[in-house]
Amino acid sequence: MTRLLDLLLHVPLRYQDRTRVVRIGEARAGESVVIEAEVEHTSVVSRRRRSLLCRVADGTGSVTLRFFHFNAGQREALRRGRRLRCIGELRAGSGGAEMIHPELQFDWPPPDSAPRLTPVYPTTEGLHQLTLRRLVAAALKRLTEGELVLEELVPQSMRERFALPGIAEAVHSLHGPAPGAGTDPNTLNARRRLAFEELLAHSLSMLTLREQARQLAAPALRSEGEMAARFLATLPFSLTSAQQRVSAEVARDLAAGQPMLRLVQGDVGSGKTLIAALAALAAVESGYQAALMAPTELLAEQHFRTFCDWFAPLGIGVAWVSGKTGAAERRAAREALRCGEAALAIGTHALFQNPVEFARLALIVIDEQHRFGVHQRLALREKGGPGLQPHQLVMTATPIPRTLAMTAYADLDCSSIDELPPGRTPVRTAVLSQERRSEIVRRIRSACQQGRQAYWVCPLIEESELLEAQAAEQTADLLREALSGLNVGLVHGRLRADEKDRAMQRFKRGEIDVLVATTVVEVGVDVPNASLMIIENAERLGLAQLHQLRGRVGRGAEASSCLLVYKPPLSEAARARLQTLRDTNDGFVIAEKDLQMRGPGEVLGTRQTGQLTFRVADLRSDADLVAAVRECAGLMQDRHRELVAPLLQRWLGEREAYAGV
Ligand code: ADP
Ligand code: MG
Repeated sequence: MTRLLDLLLHVPLRYQDRTRVVRIGEARAGESVVIEAEVEHTSVVSRRRRSLLCRVADGTGSVTLRFFHFNAGQREALRRGRRLRCIGELRAGSGGAEMIHPELQFDWPPPDSAPRLTPVYPTTEGLHQLTLRRLVAAALKRLTEGELVLEELVPQSMRERFALPGIAEAVHSLHGPAPGAGTDPNTLNARRRLAFEELLAHSLSMLTLREQARQLAAPALRSEGEMAARFLATLPFSLTSAQQRVSAEVARDLAAGQPMLRLVQGDVGSGKTLIAALAALAAVESGYQAALMAPTELLAEQHFRTFCDWFAPLGIGVAWVSGKTGAAERRAAREALRCGEAALAIGTHALFQNPVEFARLALIVIDEQHRFGVHQRLALREKGGPGLQPHQLVMTATPIPRTLAMTAYADLDCSSIDELPPGRTPVRTAVLSQERRSEIVRRIRSACQQGRQAYWVCPLIEESELLEAQAAEQTADLLREALSGLNVGLVHGRLRADEKDRAMQRFKRGEIDVLVATTVVEVGVDVPNASLMIIENAERLGLAQLHQLRGRVGRGAEASSCLLVYKPPLSEAARARLQTLRDTNDGFVIAEKDLQMRGPGEVLGTRQTGQLTFRVADLRSDADLVAAVRECAGLMQDRHRELVAPLLQRWLGEREAYAGV
């Protein structure tokens, strides 16, 4: 049953039009054609390569069929006078028109009253196109004859509303649309119907997860906002109106008795950290604990310092949890969290791996998340302890295109910080070849002489942290030579945590002018005085990553620049990426482009990819369906609950239907 269904949902790559037989005299080289002809002559030649040649003619012209693999039976079948159909691409050979390994038919059905296009499937090794076609045809036959039943799971009313054909009709036409429907399955209505249903199943499974989560009890954090007010008074600026709106949304969630599941998205530099701080204060004021998890050691360390500065005056203990701290320190941090002496824990994923126990954990903040899947997020809930479900606040590293957010994060509510703090000047971006290195060095010198600071990023050259570190070391040496009189510092992944931290602190204090770094500085790092970003080998990085790195500058009021340095020659795709970066600073625009260029897997990071591998749907061509799918999912939940389970079963299978952990 499953295997039949899999066959039926196997989407063709394209379609061939075999409904029209062409005359040889009218066929052009390069075309995929069907010809009907008679064998004139067959012979085996062994010039360079032993091959079977067969000349066929239809009265308007002749074509040579060429086979490199053949057996005696095939040779025998091509005897003189035999009529046959040849299907394949016509090429201009040295001795006139030829076809290489065409598909042959010796008898064929009478002209069909309803002619259909022929599917060409993606095949895997060992499974021949013709075999696959035969298997699918057999499955379709069983469907027609009623041996196999594909229940209609999208109710009539919704099919009408969203203009969807019935499932059986869609499946039939997926494997043999009428001529004129075009030969691209992406645009085919039948495929779109199936994609709709698949996205619907996905959406329902996420909504189900969300519903389950909402049924759990969470501590209602009804703080007066007294601590928040004291905290905000210590800041040299006030919240942007977007920050105010989003933090109010968060506060409302926290005050309800169900676990918050909220995604906060905002461009780099939009001030997401403050949203986390305010949420943490609500937890602390209500007598609970909060935990903040960052994706890298460097960022976690930076947050630790920031939050210590912010929270110490309020008398709030902050504990540091990392995989790389010494045993004694780690024990002390754990003890502080276990007895409740520390109200806030900050760390990397070690927070949730080590046996860290919390006295009263009520809030988990995941910062700059783009690498965690839904399952991992669910696993974090377990940390709440008996009877306590912690609230979850997830903050994205870069904006996520709306369609993608609605699909990948459908179990979360979404808030957007769609405004940058005032007084920022947009980063000016230039793209240049590495041959202009001396010019780049001059720019660094001049920026530093004006009291500014610069990053020089050497991205991963091979999949090796060691090689990357070596490249960064070499670059630092070169720059020290070229920039005598300036202080050049270095951070990379192979340094010890305290060494990295020391370099970052010196950079922050202005003791280092130029920080040579690997992509460890990719996310979150905040040094407002740095105004020049140089990214070497920029052609190797994806859009989101480049945008993140660029986001390290332009954080102060000073005009900032980013130089994207590439090693020629530049591929078309890389040129398009760099061009996009040069043209816009808007993370939402960049995210949309990234989705179009690389697809959802790359935009969301590897973890999410598994979840978003669809059989039929493709978020690039089906993005426009997402809103309707979401609406339909809501209607299904309200009015046709009985159809939800079979729908999940059909598309996600028994085990994953509810994405259970
Ligand atoms: P991101 O959204 O990238 O995590 P951060 O939280 O690191 O951004 O904030 C970027 C910088 O902007 C920080 O230096 C922060 O102190 C500053 N900032 C945040 N909110 C405001 C604001 N409302 N007004 C001025 N500066 C702000
Ligand atoms: Mg941040």
